[in-house]
Parts: sequence; structure tokens; C-alpha cells
Amino acid sequence: MAEISREQIMNVLSGVVDPDTGKDVVRANMVSGLVIKGGNVGFALEVDPAEAPRKEALRKACEAAVDAIPGVLSVSAVLTAHRASPAAAAAPRGQAHAHGHAHGPAGGQPRPAEKPAIEGIRSIVAVASGKGGVGKSTTAVNLAIALRDRGLKVGLLDADIYGPSIPRMLGISGRPQSPDGKKLIPMQNWGIVCMSIGFLIAEDTPMIWRGPMVMSALEQMLREVAWGPLDVLVVDLPPGTGDAQLTMAQRVPLTGAVIVSTPQDIALLDARKGLAMFRRVDVPVMGIVENMSYFCCPNCGHRTEIFAHGGARKTAAELGCDFLGEIPLDIRIRETSDAGEPIVASEPGSPHAAAYRAIAEKVAAKIEEALGEQQRRAPKIVIQ
Ligand code: ADP
Repeated sequence: MAEISREQIMNVLSGVVDPDTGKDVVRANMVSGLVIKGGNVGFALEVDPAEAPRKEALRKACEAAVDAIPGVLSVSAVLTAHRASPAAAAAPRGQAHAHGHAHGPAGGQPRPAEKPAIEGIRSIVAVASGKGGVGKSTTAVNLAIALRDRGLKVGLLDADIYGPSIPRMLGISGRPQSPDGKKLIPMQNWGIVCMSIGFLIAEDTPMIWRGPMVMSALEQMLREVAWGPLDVLVVDLPPGTGDAQLTMAQRVPLTGAVIVSTPQDIALLDARKGLAMFRRVDVPVMGIVENMSYFCCPNCGHRTEIFAHGGARKTAAELGCDFLGEIPLDIRIRETSDAGEPIVASEPGSPHAAAYRAIAEKVAAKIEEALGEQQRRAPKIVIQ
């Protein structure tokens, strides 16, 4: 692999903005003492000592940005007083309080550039949506539990770094521990192991996520977590079909994707964009779920078609992908989901739980299908 250049590093660092000044760290002349040794990178960020505690997030953001450069094995960024001479601020001095972490296989081999499989994880299913608020996370959580009910070992990765809601929906709080200092032990509830950026940063911490940081945070949550043997890792993607989602879809070795939409969303073509995005990166779309499909009256059980229900089924047929099922708009789904007691686990006898289980049955079958197909086609050639 080609040597990582200074230019590459400065280039990604110029995408990291200090929220205090609005300037990126390169323009603000904060970067000094850059050392590159093989895939190991060290540098200092010069800050006013009085402000050092506040700049920790910025330091981490810089590390994450550099860490996302292919071929980088470890990054160590340290904060130094900005009057220090560049030589004194160089990486070796900073090693006393270095926060670097090694990536990739032991022995310093470079990471394979494309979708390396994740040890111990048999399949990965992304849950995506064309826009926010359609019930993507609710679906991801209930799907995960319904897959667990099929006897599978299931993990849930909250990749919605802009609005992590999985900890709340699974009723988990606290911080994941790392006894060996290398891998984080995922959190757990309802028989689902889970990792979310929500466990690592305070909810009210304003985070500016730049492209490389998004990938780095995601890769760490994927690869630096002791997921243990899993049959399925369900990934709750951020809403939308922007660059971050595309990159994730491209970099995570996805077995397939489930697209959640509401009837209105189908009308607005957002779900179609999701479908197009996965097809672009050669990820099989397992199908579409229509959420908030119709309204179920909590008093009399009467069903009202508030929106033109059934659009997802029609769209799926038009676009040549499967329709996985429909979930009604029901107050119990909202209440249980927001209370950390997902309906499939807390009210397994309800028709809603049954609806999620029916979706899970289809998804489980598609996982097996995709794994079989992958085996047949390996090594795979992608023609774009
Ligand atoms: P997204 O992940 O798409 O942003 P969420 O899963 O966070 O959406 O859902 C948004 C809100 O809608 C949450 O309060 C959730 O409890 C609620 N919700 C999701 N699906 C349903 C449903 N089928 N019926 C009622 N409320 C729902």
C-alpha cells in the first residue's frame, strides 16, 4: 500500500472544524509535529492550555478523521499548549497521553480497502429510510427482537449517529466497558447486544460529523466491539440517502437492506431513492416495510386508512423488490418503543408483534438466500 502522505492528512484535517472558532484546524494553524511512520500517524493540536479540556472532542474528531484514511493503522493526536515549539509538540512527546488505537489485523498489516468481513458476524442487515421519522428505528428494534425469537443471536448497531435512539428504545443506559482496553463490550437488553454512539457521547454534545468521521465512528462501532458470535447484526442507518448513508452502505459488508417507509413517504418518492442507493452499491434490497400503514383505534380496534395505504406494496412491485409487510399506526407501538419496551418483547401476543414476526420470517429467509448466493458467487465481480 502506498505511503500515506502529509497532504492526505492535512486534507482530511481541513474538514474538521473547531466549533468554538468556526475555522477548520488547518486554517487555524493548530496542527503541528505531524509524524508519519508506516501506517502510524501522530500529530499535535495546539490549543490554549486554559481551553484544553474543552478541546477534547475536537482532538477526537481529528483522530477519527485521520483514522478513516485507508491504510492508516493508528492515530495519536495530542493537545499541546499553543506556544510550544513545533518540535516539542511532536508526537513522541505526546505519547505520555496518547489516545491512539490500532486498527486492523495484528502485525501491522494494512486493512483491506473493501468491505472486510467482521469476525463472528454471519450476516448484516441494514434498516434504512428515505427520510426521518418514518419509524425506521422502531422497526429495527422490533425486527431485531423478532429475529431473536426465531432463535437467532442478534446484535443491533445504532449507526444513526445524528440521532441515536436505540439506547432509549431498548431501555439501555450507561457506558460500555472495555476490560482489555481494545474492544468494547456491547450493552445488552431484551436478549439483544447493542452498540450506539449514544452510549459514548452525552446526548446534548453538539457533534459536527464530517464524512471521514462518520466512517471512522461507524468502523469503530463495527470492528472494535466484541460482538461475539452473531447470526445477524441489524444496523439502524441514519435517515436519508446522502453521502454518509451511501458510504456506509458501501463500506459495511451488508448482506441486505430493509427499507422502511410510510404511505406518504412512498408518495414522495423518498423510499425509491433508498432503493436506488442500495442498488448503486450492489447491496440487495430485501424489501420494503410500510410503517404507519393504517390507523388502529385503541378503543374499538377499528381500522382507518388515514393515508392511502398499500402504496409500499405497489411501489415494491413496480420496482421489482419484495414487500415485507405492513405495521399499523398504533399508540401502543409508540408507547412501548419510547419506553424502552419494544412491543415484540413486551406484548408478544399482540397482533403488532405478530406483524413484526412475519417480517422477521421473511428477512431471515432472505438472509439465508443471500448467504447462499454470496457463497456461490464468491469471488464477486462488480460491474458498474
Ligand atoms: P425514525 O427512526 O424513522 O426517525 P422512529 O422509529 O424514531 O423513526 O419513530 C419516530 C416516532 O414514531 C417514535 O416516537 C416512534 O415511537 C413512533 N412510531 C414508529 N412507528 C410507529 C407506529 N407504527 N405506530 C405508532 N408510532 C410509531
